[in-house]
Amino acid sequence: MFAFIFGAVVGSFLNVCIYRLPKGESIAFPPSHCPACDYKIPFYDNIPLVSYLVLGGKCRSCRAAISLQYPVVELITALLALFLFMRYGLSFLFAVLFLFCAAMVVITFIDLEHLIIPDVISLSGIVLGFVFSFFIPQLGWQNSLFGILAGGGSLYLVATLYHLFTGKEGMGGGDIKLLAMMGAFFGWKAVPFIIFMSSLVGSVVGVTVMFAQNKDSKLAIPFGPFLALGAILYIFFGRQMIHWYLSLGGSIR
Ligand SMILES: [Zn+2]
Repeated sequence: MFAFIFGAVVGSFLNVCIYRLPKGESIAFPPSHCPACDYKIPFYDNIPLVSYLVLGGKCRSCRAAISLQYPVVELITALLALFLFMRYGLSFLFAVLFLFCAAMVVITFIDLEHLIIPDVISLSGIVLGFVFSFFIPQLGWQNSLFGILAGGGSLYLVATLYHLFTGKEGMGGGDIKLLAMMGAFFGWKAVPFIIFMSSLVGSVVGVTVMFAQNKDSKLAIPFGPFLALGAILYIFFGRQMIHWYLSLGGSIR
């Protein structure tokens, strides 16, 4: 219960980051206000998840609709905190992984709306992941360093080849830095898994959207959210899925 509430409170702060980071605004000041009428939101209308339900999704002052994104971000962050706590307890690993997941939530929602991944998150994430690796024996700094190179290098290669053959920009620099950050946190072995999962989910969603919109492939779908999903799948199911894959028979070895 405490982990869930803690996650929801952090999620409320992540909403502020998602809203203000792309605009270059301060995340600390001014206090929360309604974007429609500038009504300064008092603490009792700013309780994660609860206030949205109590207010029926509308501003108390002007009755303008509050974006559903706010409670969704709070709920996702609360669930991530809960699941991480159930697995790791109150530990250093919990803190590191929750910080990582919080960054993924922010990146996902900013990339979905603005098609950018803020350097302030991905680049500081690379540094933080590398620093943390010195305190996580099962990761180790060499593994983290190779992870940065593998993550950044592999997508850089894909982007370069794609550009070479099509003359178009396919993969953004933001995706390259994001995968380098993931390599820093999880080591080089996580990189192929994350690329595979994000490409798989990304192609399914991409093809579905293409058919639904009845357009050709000109529609830009950000890749960052799929990388973030791939990394979160890696945290919770990576080991089981890799074991399952290796246990499949029928191949020549
Ligand atoms: Zn309002």
